[in-house]
Amino acid sequence: MACKSVECAGIASSDTAHVWHPYTQHRGAPPPVPIVRGEGALLFDDTGRPIVDAISSWWVTTHGHGHPGIARAIAAQAEQLEQVIFTGFTHAPAAMLATDLTGRLPDGLTRVFYSDDGSTAVEVAIKIAFQYWSNVGERRTHIAALAHAYHGDTFGAMSASAPSMFTAPFADNLFEVIRLPAPDSTSVLGALDQVLDSAGDTVAALIIEPLLQGAGGMRMWDPETLRGMRARTAARGVLLIADEVLTGFGRTGPLFACQAAGVSPDIICLSKGLTGGFLPLGATVVREEIFAAFASADWTHTLFHGHSYTANPLACAAARASLALLDDESSARRCAIERQHRARLARVRTHARVGNARVLGTVAAFDIAGDAGYLNPIGRALSAFALKAGVLLRPLGNVVYVLPPYCITEEQLDLVYDTIEQFLERDPASS
Ligand SMILES: *Cc1c(COP(=O)(O)O)cnc(C)c1O
Repeated sequence: MACKSVECAGIASSDTAHVWHPYTQHRGAPPPVPIVRGEGALLFDDTGRPIVDAISSWWVTTHGHGHPGIARAIAAQAEQLEQVIFTGFTHAPAAMLATDLTGRLPDGLTRVFYSDDGSTAVEVAIKIAFQYWSNVGERRTHIAALAHAYHGDTFGAMSASAPSMFTAPFADNLFEVIRLPAPDSTSVLGALDQVLDSAGDTVAALIIEPLLQGAGGMRMWDPETLRGMRARTAARGVLLIADEVLTGFGRTGPLFACQAAGVSPDIICLSKGLTGGFLPLGATVVREEIFAAFASADWTHTLFHGHSYTANPLACAAARASLALLDDESSARRCAIERQHRARLARVRTHARVGNARVLGTVAAFDIAGDAGYLNPIGRALSAFALKAGVLLRPLGNVVYVLPPYCITEEQLDLVYDTIEQFLERDPASS
């Protein structure tokens, strides 16, 4: 259904006049596409044209746009209680979500601290790690993190992230991090051993993205290395922070990527798929021993951190509804997506310009030959080509990935791959 309202006509001019978009170079940018409706894996623009959302709207949409069950849960909660201060007060959605979550997370993660998004979930994890050591009377002032890491856009999260074009203007204001090699390199565990041997008792935590480094280039790594990291950090008492902001809620196959390796971290960061993609919400979940170090007769041991909308009831209600949908049926859908990824990539990878085709659960990726890096124009060329064909793709430079909502149909996913193949088969000189 095309949108003919006055508001629709005004979207473009109001946007151009007053809106500043994320990760957007506004000079020369094509006008943003006004979206008026979403259903399942489809978005509909203001002319009623469907667009297959092959990237889950920046990796958040799990069960599909406009899922009626989640929409109803939010509406019912809005009529009951939309918001309440979360210190000194609590409410059913937050309390019950904490029970729902801790029942599904890797063993030992029992205590939930809510925040607003992935970056704040990471900030909270880093602050908890530093203050935990301070509270127990040890001076551990360093964070270790991996090459190619991405943990968010706030200052602590940027510090933990690998230095890049994104963080360069702030380099002088980021705190120093012990930088380990990429987790897919053969040297990472040896380098971790070296750091732990020479300075282990100054390291508060190691932060990682289990099995899949997302924004750093959809780089996949193996469960064996993750087990090696867990064993080494546990032996030295170093906290292991698993940033599952992207990988959580079935994205890589199992409910949480750590579970594929049989690993339980000390702290886990959650967001993105937490609410099924309906509302912003973050959660940092820790072991009870960590929480216990903050519950003290000494008031200075308090975690003095919180946000205005901490544990917003609407977001928590959405998260509970979304979590309930991650059942056997969803698991079967995710397996079907993985199978289709493998089948279609088998053809894509035969293309001369394609390298390093890879799949992890519902995420598929490959590289197009040429300069590595976010500014490689081939990604933008594919984006524009795909949009014309009714597919939303947003490569990371020359890294193309497909990361669909779990409800995507076989035909819709075929359209995504058909479009990618048509792009690859064009005359390279025209890209
Ligand atoms: C997206 C992402 C973040 C940041 O989450 P925001 O909600 O965008 O702040 C942190 N860590 C990982 C692994 C992510 O993919």
